[in-house]
Amino acid sequence: MTELIHKIQELKKQKNATILAHYYQKEEIQDIADFVGDSLEMARKAKQLSTDTIVICGVSFMAETAQILCPDKNILLPVKNAGCSLAQFASPEKIATLRAKYPEAAFVCYVNSSAEVKALCDICCTSANAVKVVRSLPQKQIVMLPDGNLASWVQSKVPEKEIIGFAGHCPSHNRVSANDVTGMKTRHPEALLLAHPEVKKEVWELADFVGSTSAIIKYVEASVGKEFIIATEVGILHELRQRFPQKAFYLLTPDLICLTMKMIELEDLYKALLNNEHTVKLDEDLLKKAYVPLKRMFDLN
Ligand code: SF4
Repeated sequence: MTELIHKIQELKKQKNATILAHYYQKEEIQDIADFVGDSLEMARKAKQLSTDTIVICGVSFMAETAQILCPDKNILLPVKNAGCSLAQFASPEKIATLRAKYPEAAFVCYVNSSAEVKALCDICCTSANAVKVVRSLPQKQIVMLPDGNLASWVQSKVPEKEIIGFAGHCPSHNRVSANDVTGMKTRHPEALLLAHPEVKKEVWELADFVGSTSAIIKYVEASVGKEFIIATEVGILHELRQRFPQKAFYLLTPDLICLTMKMIELEDLYKALLNNEHTVKLDEDLLKKAYVPLKRMFDLN
């Protein structure tokens, strides 16, 4: 393992590459990355980098987003078929149907979507800025896709808008229930429940705080609380336990695991750098169209 880590670090220098990893990646991938963040932070970081190559340790929409934001860079995704099950719910055909049904609505697309879907929407959002994005829009009617749970949470924060949700969900986050919360609260009555907005309404309604992965970390940092029940993907525990060793963290259920986020191994990262694989190549027209909603989102921040 140490030798492989050394080889990756050498190759990274030779190839003038930067490794960006999501908090849901395996611990060893987070440890070797130059930067670890949620999808918004990874996208922001990609835009700032001057290295020729950016290796995205995450899922395919994150690599596509990096390509859209940095079209002149060499973007690598170490495991080609590491996709996001939530992103697969939305398609250009479904958007066309909804556009015909809601011609006055603004279309807000969660960054967890394909480049083709982004290209057909008005503005992107992440879980970190979804409320801000929706509030910024002049339209009263908003179609939010593909995550129905995120849409219902945003609706609770922005009651002056009419949010039309979508039937998509993240299989990992959607699996947990209010019963799981009751069981965990019985075992840890003092613990605060921190939930990602991709969980079901019955779960986020019980939470002490709802926010993106990075917002959950910031909440823990600012909190005087000592125990926390975490309702998002298990990978976040690595960062939380490293940064706040004096605090206790309990994952709401072991089901909070994203299998595609866990596909990338150190060996894949090594091969990606060695063989320049797998490059993300979107056609120029698509890059330009998908850039528009992403730029609108960044212009708000
Ligand atoms: S945790 Fe859910 S939303 Fe995130 S990448 Fe995995 S499937 Fe997609």
